[in-house]
Amino acid sequence: MAVLVIADHDNASLKDNTHKTVTAALAVSGDVDVLVAGKDAKAAADAAAKIAGVRKVLLADSDALGQGLAEAVTDLAVSLAGGYDAILTPATSQGKNFSPRIAAKLDVAQISEIIEVVDASTFVRPIYAGNALETVQSSDSKKVITVRPTAFKAAGEGGSASVESVGAGAGAPKTTFVDQQLVKSARPELTGAKIVVSGGRAMGSAEEFQRVIEPLADKLGAAVGASRAAVDAGYAPNDYQVGQTGKVVAPELYVAIGISGAIQHLAGMKDSKVIVAINKDGDAPIFQVADFGLVADYKAAVPELMDALTAA
Ligand code: FAD
Repeated sequence: MAVLVIADHDNASLKDNTHKTVTAALAVSGDVDVLVAGKDAKAAADAAAKIAGVRKVLLADSDALGQGLAEAVTDLAVSLAGGYDAILTPATSQGKNFSPRIAAKLDVAQISEIIEVVDASTFVRPIYAGNALETVQSSDSKKVITVRPTAFKAAGEGGSASVESVGAGAGAPKTTFVDQQLVKSARPELTGAKIVVSGGRAMGSAEEFQRVIEPLADKLGAAVGASRAAVDAGYAPNDYQVGQTGKVVAPELYVAIGISGAIQHLAGMKDSKVIVAINKDGDAPIFQVADFGLVADYKAAVPELMDALTAA
């Protein structure tokens, strides 16, 4: 049984999500190849070749792949699918864009956001916003799977796989790349950050969010997150949203400030190693998952915390 992992990368470097997906793939089979589909992505392919347990890296190069067009990645993956029993991709926005297309073209059901591999055809995945776990057994001849990266440890380095160039597939004739606007930030990327500081509706305004949450995050070297209520109210940008309809994070430390802990928010952060909550309502549901809870007004608690961190 052979497995193809579609790498998450930015052409120049490989994202940690790839290493985590390789761990899931190795639990399915010992024969794991990695597809690096991009433009001038040799550096990312070389990095993939160093992941322990990888058999071979396939490197495909085209403008459409470099622009991340889902149609192009889909055509390429489908053209390679004959040699594989399973295709795994990290459950990123990009992966969730092309993976269902691959499944549809192969006429199989996608198995979404697995958090555990039981055996080569049986997987565990969360349902109902993480309130229940479903064990899925697939009898499809090919499995097309998205992997929740926070549920798997990153595969280590030490591999020496070969890198093989493959054709770029049919391309994306009906789609044209227009523009990409990337948010540049000196802070760590939210889904991979070791520490996340998130603010909720309690902030009351974008100015307050920036005044309270961002300096604390910078002090801790953390990424900034937000509840949906904070995002919907315009206090924080959309890509900060943590939760069922936002990003799923599992950092070493998650600090929730003025967030009630609605089930849809918990779905995105409850697997964090240590959860700290500051909320003035002692009955807020966030305290049910918090390891350390402070019933306090953040307007007093956060400056005290900043002072203590400065003194430390
Ligand atoms: P609130 O629930 O209003 O909580 C604010 C908290 O701040 C309260 O607990 C209050 O006690 C506290 N507070 C107020 N003032 C202070 C103060 N001065 N000091 C300290 N504490 C204070 N939500 C998400 O976050 N992510 C999602 O991905 C998401 N997806 C959703 C998907 C669906 C289909 C639906 C229906 C909802 C979704 N939601 C999501 C919304 C979710 O249900 C909640 O509405 C939202 O999480 C609430 O955000 P909040 O905790 O910031 O606001």
